[in-house]
Amino acid sequence: MQRNIIKVGDEGLRKVCKPIQKFDLRLWLLLRDMAETMYKAEGVGLAAPQVGILRRVVVIDVGDGLVELVNPEIIATEGEQAGPEGCLSIPGKQGYVVRPNKVTVRAQDRKGKFFEVTGEEFFARALCHEIDHLDGVLYIDKMDHEITQDDEEN
Ligand code: ZN
Repeated sequence: MQRNIIKVGDEGLRKVCKPIQKFDLRLWLLLRDMAETMYKAEGVGLAAPQVGILRRVVVIDVGDGLVELVNPEIIATEGEQAGPEGCLSIPGKQGYVVRPNKVTVRAQDRKGKFFEVTGEEFFARALCHEIDHLDGVLYIDKMDHEITQDDEEN
């Protein structure tokens, strides 16, 4: 089931989310709905607070398949990258944001099993962006400047 994506200005996007403790059907339905909502919106990532659920759950697909992250934590970062970033909760806008070039995340899967995933470049950016959502942080808090139409034309 597709869920409504909450837009910037809604207080729910600014809350610190709680960890998942039960790896049950309710979580699996949330993961399924989040993936469906992300794909329908043509996004590359979605965090649970964006659909009004204040829990530490993220889905990402940067083109290499669906990644589900429950209770994710960034445990290592390396390097730096600067580039454009958007958000399904801030439609039609982009900002220029500096992020680590490589990040390693420790998370749990849908059954509660711990695993690590390392992402570079765009995947690293998506991991940072989505995990920020779980602490009520949006890219606009970190961006150097908003990207306007003029920037793209030049
Ligand atoms: Zn976002």
